Amino acid sequence: MNYGRTYNFSAGPAMMPEPVLEEIASEVLNYRGSGMSVMEMSHRSKMFQQIADQAEADLRTLMDIPDNYKVLFIQGGGHVQFAMVPMNLMKQGVACYVETGTWSKKAIAEAKKYGQVQVVASSKDQGYTYVPDCSDLPIPGNADYVYICENETINGTTFFDLPDTKGKILVSDQSSMFLSRPCDVSKYGLIWAGVQKNVGPAGMAVVILREDLLRDDLPEFVPSYLNYKLHADAGSMYNTPNCWAIYCCGKVFRYLLDQGGLEAMARRNAEKAAVLYDFLDSSKLFTAPVRKQDRSLMNVPFVTPTKEQDADVVAATKAAGFDNLKGHRSVGGLRASIYNAMPLEGVQALVDFLKQYEQAHS
Ligand SMILES: *Cc1c(COP(=O)(O)O)cnc(C)c1O
Repeated sequence: MNYGRTYNFSAGPAMMPEPVLEEIASEVLNYRGSGMSVMEMSHRSKMFQQIADQAEADLRTLMDIPDNYKVLFIQGGGHVQFAMVPMNLMKQGVACYVETGTWSKKAIAEAKKYGQVQVVASSKDQGYTYVPDCSDLPIPGNADYVYICENETINGTTFFDLPDTKGKILVSDQSSMFLSRPCDVSKYGLIWAGVQKNVGPAGMAVVILREDLLRDDLPEFVPSYLNYKLHADAGSMYNTPNCWAIYCCGKVFRYLLDQGGLEAMARRNAEKAAVLYDFLDSSKLFTAPVRKQDRSLMNVPFVTPTKEQDADVVAATKAAGFDNLKGHRSVGGLRASIYNAMPLEGVQALVDFLKQYEQAHS
């Protein structure tokens, strides 16, 4: 079926798999004989509880999440997690952050409101175009955790090796790489991901955290709602959750399982990214600024020699039916976000177009 959909290279909200959208569309007026859509359904109903339970179970299977980890669906997206992490995990009031770009800077700024932040490594010196060496970080003995943004959506870098945290808890923002490749959950204390990048609709984060990090002794100032334990004890249903996002994410989890799981995703994503990076590296017009071994497979920033030409390419791609290739307003240039739901044909079509553009302008 041709719906006239474009290849959407948005960093988020971003493309969702077409078969998932079709299934959602088929259920939107009457979900499985209930006489209503999931948007209209009580979150306390048996039917919705089943949807939420299945979503969690499928995510646990996909990521092979150990039993001593909780899976939480929390409203508010990424920015709420920037605050929740330090509020819940800073016991001694000291946390280490690795600064790799915009999203780690935001997390650092927020954490500073609650305690002492030590930036233990940074790639600021080269415009965040690489991931700093994290094999021997200066982590103080009283640090509560080490925080990374595992894939920097704006700058286009990713950690292929996790930092040596010297025994401290590792906390990771996986928003723009969640479910794009296998992940050994047991290496982390807490993983969180805003779902609008690689999974579903905006307005929710998935939080996966080790049970022993839940606390009864949070400082008085922490709003009840921002306590992970409150969400864990209530099975993510303390108040009305983002039912629609849970339902849509559940569909995507199931779809990924049917597609062969995270190893299959990793293979496909590597193949897609290689098509684009190989072209950029062989091009005389376009440059990919990120150091090769740290390149994100999800977000691919690139530039031409001038801002004017960047803008011209963005306009030309848009006219040719490729959407949202403009780089983030903080860095400029172009960026192609090629999450799980972007088909290989979409990346190939973009490369063909950029090749033609280059020939026509050389
Ligand atoms: C988009 C993004 C965020 C912010 O998410 P919001 O839901 O808009 O608050 C945080 N971290 C990363 C890595 C992101 O890509």
